[in-house]
Amino acid sequence: MSNNHTDDTPTEQESTESESESPEFETRAIHAGQEPDPATGAVMPPIHTSSTFAQDGPGEDRGYEYARTGNPTRTTLEANLAALEGGAHGRAFASGMAAINTVLNLLESGDHVVTGDDIYGGTHRLFRQVYEDYDLSFSFVDTTDPAAVRAAVGPDTELVWVETPTNPLLRVNDIAALADIAHANDALCAVDNTFATPYLQRPLEHGADIVSHSLTKYIGGHSDVVGGALVTDDSHLDERFGFYQNSVGATPDPFACFLVLRGVKTLPVRMDRHCENASTLARRLQDHPDVSTVYYPGLETHSAHDLAAAQMDDFGGMVSFELDASIDQTATFVSETELFTLAESLGGVESLIEQPATMTHAAIPREERLEAGLTDGLVRASVGVESVEDLWADVEQAIATALA
Ligand SMILES: *Cc1c(COP(=O)(O)O)cnc(C)c1O
Repeated sequence: MSNNHTDDTPTEQESTESESESPEFETRAIHAGQEPDPATGAVMPPIHTSSTFAQDGPGEDRGYEYARTGNPTRTTLEANLAALEGGAHGRAFASGMAAINTVLNLLESGDHVVTGDDIYGGTHRLFRQVYEDYDLSFSFVDTTDPAAVRAAVGPDTELVWVETPTNPLLRVNDIAALADIAHANDALCAVDNTFATPYLQRPLEHGADIVSHSLTKYIGGHSDVVGGALVTDDSHLDERFGFYQNSVGATPDPFACFLVLRGVKTLPVRMDRHCENASTLARRLQDHPDVSTVYYPGLETHSAHDLAAAQMDDFGGMVSFELDASIDQTATFVSETELFTLAESLGGVESLIEQPATMTHAAIPREERLEAGLTDGLVRASVGVESVEDLWADVEQAIATALA
């Protein structure tokens, strides 16, 4: 690993504030990292579009030199996200993939990574189709089974990459157990917290070293911006992330930072409604005669309900379910919904629906897909914040039409 833990000169101070002294999550979402602009009193953080910053003398800057290296709007977002994850340091990126790529930048050829067999498709592609060419190796295992992870970890393992809940089957992984396994081998544990958001789950509290986000989803929340972030308590890691922001340049522009900052203020109220609506739909789907299985960590029947209840504050807005239907009938179902828009992605205020077999996971050969539990009748819904009665009526009418 190129990440040098012996260099002992952190550029930023570790947060010394204890958890109990900091304001509640809802307050931090709105205020952390931001104060009325000292120059004008503007209540909302200005969008600083300048690419360069005047220096008071050669090498005497006021904290900013060049906008790839640092930008005040980005700094505000980074401080806000760090506060929400309960971490000391935040870094924002041009996309979730750019954030994940930055974690991989810490590794060097010969290093080994252990990760889940059902991780986000873009992450799988980055690992297999980009980094295997740089002589990194990856083991894709069932991360719900800590013994399988322990068995896959070896002397070259430098990173355990965890997603929870996973996509599309909403499996739940035990962050503390997986972080312990990583640390026993002097490896890092990174958690992609995109599905849960820091409102529902804070991986650093469970021992993770790095939290990764696609801000494009719930944190942005309005399907109108692409972004990513990393949060850590480790100032050496944060320094490396800053180095890669500057060296690689996959940083977000100030307009994107502004949109995420605007979205994040309502994250708690949106997530409350996402969870409430998803839970209601999951329960009603469970009772529907044409639905054979419902995947939602909030259901007592979910295989890891107790772990989810311990690790998360609520169960999120994603619901997957299996229609007792053919691949064509299921395709008809997702096409017949009117409020649920047929689209990939998730986490916006509006409800989205998709069929993994023909959309997000269509590239996987059918045999393999079925083995992974991704059946022809599987449907994934990102439940929005609309009226739950309207959403349910939409699901019912589309099932009736598809199975008529
Ligand atoms: C969308 C997503 C990503 C990638 O984020 P982008 O912002 O699209 O680059 C990574 N992980 C998960 C879990 C996602 O849902």
